[in-house]
Amino acid sequence: MQVNLRSFKQKVRHNAKQLRTFLTKLEKKNPKSLDKWAVTLSTEVWNEVDCLSCANCCKTMSPTFTPADIKRISAHLEMKPTEFKEKWLEYDKKDKDWLNQLRPCQFLNLKTNMCSIYEVRPADCAGFPHLTKKKMNEYIHVHKQNVEYCPATYKMVEKMKDLQKEIFQK
Ligand code: SF4
Ligand code: SF4
Repeated sequence: MQVNLRSFKQKVRHNAKQLRTFLTKLEKKNPKSLDKWAVTLSTEVWNEVDCLSCANCCKTMSPTFTPADIKRISAHLEMKPTEFKEKWLEYDKKDKDWLNQLRPCQFLNLKTNMCSIYEVRPADCAGFPHLTKKKMNEYIHVHKQNVEYCPATYKMVEKMKDLQKEIFQK
């Protein structure tokens, strides 16, 4: 399903606070079945969200670039890692991460929403938005941030909130 970013932003303005409050509750209660629900509901989400009609993550956020990402991508671009970092990245001293200098990402084709380095993209991009990658409870702090940028995360949290009675049943 196509993503309408304008209506997504409106929904975020109205509902993000409630969804974050729900996530805090989820984090505290940490129901046993949470990871199973995440798998089931993320399948539904990916049937409903078409990332190529969105690309809001690539437009508004930066992935973190690990040393392995920097080595692989710079080799792909026939650059030295130091040149690559100087040209495109900046170091976040607080979180000790390499991030993009630019938003949208320099590798995003804004006409097609395609990534020009897709095969060698950062691991963070490949796993984003991490709906089922880790134990969900360990990732809730990230979903709290992403709920306002990523329509897939928003939908996942909305579905969980709608099913909270079932999810909180032991
Ligand atoms: S590297 Fe590719 S997938 Fe990652 S943010 Fe940039 S355009 Fe998006
Ligand atoms: S991962 Fe989220 S923000 Fe990125 S393109 Fe897909 S729905 Fe949009």
